[in-house]
Amino acid sequence: MSETRHNWTKEEILAIYNKPLMELLYEAATIHREHHDPNVVQVSTLLSVKTGGCSEDCGYCPQAARYHTDIEGNDLMSVKQVKAQALRAKSGGSSRVCMGAAWRNVKDGEEFDQVLEMVRTINKLDMEVCCTLGMLTENQAKRLAEAGLYAYNHNLDSSEEYYKEVISTRGYQDRLDTIDNVRKTNVTVCSGGIIGMGENLEDRAGMLVALSTLNPQPESTPINALVAVEGTPLEDEKPVSIWEMIRMVATTRIVMPETQVRLSAGRTQMTREGQAMCFFAGANSIFAGDKLLTTPNPDVNEDMEMFAVLGLEPQKPFTKKVQPQTVEAQDSEFESLGEKPKWTRPEHTIERNEAAKEKAKALK
Ligand code: SF4
Repeated sequence: MSETRHNWTKEEILAIYNKPLMELLYEAATIHREHHDPNVVQVSTLLSVKTGGCSEDCGYCPQAARYHTDIEGNDLMSVKQVKAQALRAKSGGSSRVCMGAAWRNVKDGEEFDQVLEMVRTINKLDMEVCCTLGMLTENQAKRLAEAGLYAYNHNLDSSEEYYKEVISTRGYQDRLDTIDNVRKTNVTVCSGGIIGMGENLEDRAGMLVALSTLNPQPESTPINALVAVEGTPLEDEKPVSIWEMIRMVATTRIVMPETQVRLSAGRTQMTREGQAMCFFAGANSIFAGDKLLTTPNPDVNEDMEMFAVLGLEPQKPFTKKVQPQTVEAQDSEFESLGEKPKWTRPEHTIERNEAAKEKAKALK
């Protein structure tokens, strides 16, 4: 059986990515079968529990307040609304709910307490709960773990070098620090990135170096294809080809053999045949639901039809790790510290982000 290595170099990863496709697919599929059931795919539902109005400047994101996009912002959803959506997701075959909030970082207080209650509620439905809430302190990670969180998503997005071309309001090390804080608990780590943001192959390999040299490697890695949204700095980027997606998935599978590799944003631009090749190359997770936070996604029935055609089965919850216990708020051993951590504000300027901001100002 292939071993998990934590010392991959960019050159090795590039050599894998650039192999003749049939060899790459054969190698990735072989490793995939050694570590996973190739006919089982995890289905996750991504739920935007707080949409829009974010203070960050991520060049790909329509939720950044500074860009002019046509998404509608929402305040934090209620626990009741989230429970209803989770039940719907469960009946549609999802084993995991991932709740996303458009925050720079988690702030202690009422809203975070409400998110903790959402985590407790979903865990009690016997579904895996994941959150993506921005940067986290160690105490906040521990409180999420105690509520029954199964996974925390925090993407590295790209290579450290290219990250500076996409986001100017926080640094790569901030991302790694949050992942580190999650690792101080028993919550699993979900971290991946986006291709098609104008990065080169070295950047794709660089991102995989950063992810694969984490020890342990992330338990899940979403591979997103950019969905270019009008009004964002990356609005003019051309969609990535399916071949790039297949190569990226296969390379991720080879360097991160035990990780669940998730086909994420950009699936609406892929044919079923293209998605089938991604599954063959080692993808074993998808996001379900007609929206991925704010961008379109195939609807659940379409996905279940595709599963039937390909003979795939949705993965049962807690297949890879036991269900965490939920501790009720009144029994919590952690207090809200009211922390106001200072994260990096590198404040370098990205020309296209500035241009999109100016354009938005002119339109307002
Ligand atoms: S990706 Fe997240 S942090 Fe960045 S602008 Fe969008 S919501 Fe904010």
